[in-house]
Amino acid sequence: MKVQTASMEQAQQLLQKYYGYPDFREGQRKIVASMLGGADTLGIMPTGGGKSICYQIPALLQPGLTLVVSPLISLMKDQVDALIAMGIPAAFINSTLSGKEANDRIRAARRGELKLLYVAPERLELDWFREEMGTLDISCVAVDEAHCVSQWGHDFRTSYLAVSPFVNGLPRRPTLAAFTATATPEVMDDMIRLLRLDNPSVFVTGLGRDNLAMSVLRGENKREYIMNYVETHGHQPGIIYAATRKEVDDLYGRLRQAGVPAGRYHAGLSDREREESQEAFLYDDIRVMVATNAFGMGIDKSNVRYVIHFNMPKNMEAYVQEAGRAGRDGEPSDCILLFSPQDIMTQKFLIEQNPQDEDRKRNEYRKLQQMVEYCYSTSCLRWGMLDYFGEAHDRTPCGICSSCRDERELVDMTVDAQIVFSCIHRMRERFGVSLVSSVLKGSQNKKVLQYGFDKLPTYGMMRRRTEKEISELINMFIAEGYLALTEGQYPVVRLQPLAGDVLRGKHQVMMRAPEPASAKGAGTSGSSRRARGSVYDDGPSAVNETVFEQLRLIRRDLAEK
Ligand code: ADP
Ligand code: MG
Ligand code: ZN
Repeated sequence: MKVQTASMEQAQQLLQKYYGYPDFREGQRKIVASMLGGADTLGIMPTGGGKSICYQIPALLQPGLTLVVSPLISLMKDQVDALIAMGIPAAFINSTLSGKEANDRIRAARRGELKLLYVAPERLELDWFREEMGTLDISCVAVDEAHCVSQWGHDFRTSYLAVSPFVNGLPRRPTLAAFTATATPEVMDDMIRLLRLDNPSVFVTGLGRDNLAMSVLRGENKREYIMNYVETHGHQPGIIYAATRKEVDDLYGRLRQAGVPAGRYHAGLSDREREESQEAFLYDDIRVMVATNAFGMGIDKSNVRYVIHFNMPKNMEAYVQEAGRAGRDGEPSDCILLFSPQDIMTQKFLIEQNPQDEDRKRNEYRKLQQMVEYCYSTSCLRWGMLDYFGEAHDRTPCGICSSCRDERELVDMTVDAQIVFSCIHRMRERFGVSLVSSVLKGSQNKKVLQYGFDKLPTYGMMRRRTEKEISELINMFIAEGYLALTEGQYPVVRLQPLAGDVLRGKHQVMMRAPEPASAKGAGTSGSSRRARGSVYDDGPSAVNETVFEQLRLIRRDLAEK
């Protein structure tokens, strides 16, 4: 252990000498110590957490070379340029080099003139490259963006599967370290299994950066919202993510027309156009980047003040990575997700379009559902995020997310909940949100009549609301854990134990009343978000008589059940 203590002191000196930082961040210190101790290490840290230093500093303290597997050519070049500028001997090998250039760099490594060599994962699949590497003294292999090895992740790269055979085929197995910002259990399992990390030390740190104000806004006029937001924050750098190229082009056009210095980025543009707009953004020549999720992996721009999602992403991992590009410098920043139910349809469509096996598909639907639950949640969004990623937290509300800042009063929604739950119960828990909504609305649609649901006591009990409002309400109950959806393309709503308690009158449902669609202004929040009571009905009192009569019947059903 003595050796390691000495090394940590050296590590800190190097951090000051080369990087000019007085100290490691807490997570970095643990990871560096683990790597210097020779253990395989898995470091999970949010975007901007400082993963690079975790392998760069140990690289300087180890006798041989550290090979860094990195997924993006542009990212590799940026990092190597930065290292060289600091006086650290580093190089990269990728497809932009000629054979001669690549060989020169390998020779330099063999002479011990390099501490870090960055390579694209595809290299590791090449026989000649593996042979060359076998002749070098490699102390450590660091795998950056390691979630790319997992099919459960959102950036699966087949060539990451070559990492493990490569490492284990070397004459002497180096220590292996993997880094990512993605911390779901499946992805973690995959990284350990597929990279064959040997009894690794795993470190997960701070997903909930407290400078980020997370918001989910439902039912906004998205375009207007964005135009207003950018107008009032136009001088600050920000990213707007949209689901499709078409949407990106449209928003980009509108912003340009309004005189906003905006750029765009998506896979339909040429490499050159993409590179130019990325550079322009990095150097603040443009302020707003409108992009699909093709933009951003490994972008090191610390002063992004906001990330707006024009559409809900497909899962929490993707969301956290994209939103996490805001505020990497620790300054207060906004992460705003503009949600509409149409986004769910879009994501389902994308899942269906993508040929894949059933297991994977089911998993994607499950993750999508968790993303939707996050969007409908009325409790602190940071809790929601930390809970999802399994990170421990003291249950103190963050105070700055849209749930924490929601000024609408909590209202007693017990009766609404009882109506919905009893309807689901009467429908034998065999149908999805939309049919339940149709029944509560009292709709005459074919399916309702075909099943005879127009004869149910709960039929039409929410006829004063739109079906959309009813669905939203049901989704809120799902997000709050009263109900659950089964997995798959056509999820069925099921009652959870808590719903039974509500039906039996043992549990009161306090929620922020959802707003009726009609009350929503065009894009402005403010006044439309004030407190209101049970807005989309005559209010509990008007329906109470019949409801309570029905509930007596339902309670009897339940007792018999
Ligand atoms: P990640 O790969 O985790 O997204 P990076 O390695 O790109 O993050 O680091 C993000 C930023 O944080 C960089 O600008 C980096 O220089 C800075 N940084 C990293 N470690 C420290 C530290 N100990 N003190 C101050 N700044 C740091
Ligand atoms: Mg990184
Ligand atoms: Zn909060």
